[in-house]
Amino acid sequence: MRWMMRLGWLLCLGLGSQVLALDFPHRARVLAIEDLTHDVKRVRLTLLPPGEYSFKPGQFVFLKVPEEFIQEWNARYQTTHGSVFRPYSFASPPSRLPEFDFIIKHFRAPRGKDVPPGVASTYVHTRLRPGDVLHLSDPTGTLYLGQDSDRPILVVAGGSGAAPFVGLLEYWFDQGMDRTRTIHFFFGVRSRRDLLLHDRFSKWAAEKENFTYTPALSSPREGDDWKGETGYIQLSVEKYVEAPSEAEAYLAGPPIMVKMVTEVLRAKGIPDSRIFFDQILARE
Ligand SMILES: Cc1cc2nc3c(=O)[nH]c(=O)nc-3n(C[C@H](O)[C@H](O)[C@H](O)COP(=O)(O)OP(=O)(O)OC[C@H]3O[C@@H](n4cnc5c(N)ncnc54)[C@H](O)[C@@H]3O)c2cc1C
Repeated sequence: MRWMMRLGWLLCLGLGSQVLALDFPHRARVLAIEDLTHDVKRVRLTLLPPGEYSFKPGQFVFLKVPEEFIQEWNARYQTTHGSVFRPYSFASPPSRLPEFDFIIKHFRAPRGKDVPPGVASTYVHTRLRPGDVLHLSDPTGTLYLGQDSDRPILVVAGGSGAAPFVGLLEYWFDQGMDRTRTIHFFFGVRSRRDLLLHDRFSKWAAEKENFTYTPALSSPREGDDWKGETGYIQLSVEKYVEAPSEAEAYLAGPPIMVKMVTEVLRAKGIPDSRIFFDQILARE
């Protein structure tokens, strides 16, 4: 039976008619919070209680921001948020349960715009502490990976879009998939300081049989001393994926990245039926 992954980060806000009705039946306690980059944190949690709970690699859950924080936020920024929840991907494989990780980037206000920073990610980055308890939805998102296929796998992530692949790659390696299929991981970020878990990905590339890792910096900073790929990640995909390609591709990142990479993949002969991502509506 074929199972395929659909992932995506096409986030739409403010669509009044498409509110998701969600429950938050699960609780998890924060064990540790660690900086992965200047604006990305890894949050390690454990389920309360550690009972029956499972997710598929690459899935995500909605995290509910506590109401007290939202009230403070509304007062501070003159906003009118009601219940606020956001999707975050599991950044660890299910085999680690009852513990699991999120990797969460702090969304700051867009340059030149007089608007508040991202509410949920500001909560995680500035207020959340070890010992706090988070309320989560059921896991969701459809994962599909062609286990009946031996096609090469292309993974393309932009920025914190790497989060689901941290869990997925570890899962694939646990399954020994790198012995039967090639896996190419393309990771695009702005500059060297944004390359989260670069050492871990590099180590995997050195140790795993058929795994390659291609990071690319779109705007290297002075002092980055970077000898790797530069430019947007679709340029690296264009450069290294041979046409016609038999690969299946899995993408996560900002909508513009997904769009540009998809165009390159199509030009390489990969039909849309082998390019996987999801369009998710996240609302408050
Ligand atoms: C399936 C899926 C999985 C995801 N997984 C992850 C993950 O693992 N890790 C991760 O970091 N993210 C992930 N995301 C993104 C995440 O869900 C949130 O979208 C992200 O954290 C931003 O939420 P926020 O509440 O902090 O920002 P929001 O409050 O939603 O704000 C978003 C941006 O809008 C700006 N803004 C605020 N008000 C205005 C205004 N009036 N006008 C214009 N701009 C405004 C803010 O400054 C901010 O830059 C995922 C998204 C999807 C769809």
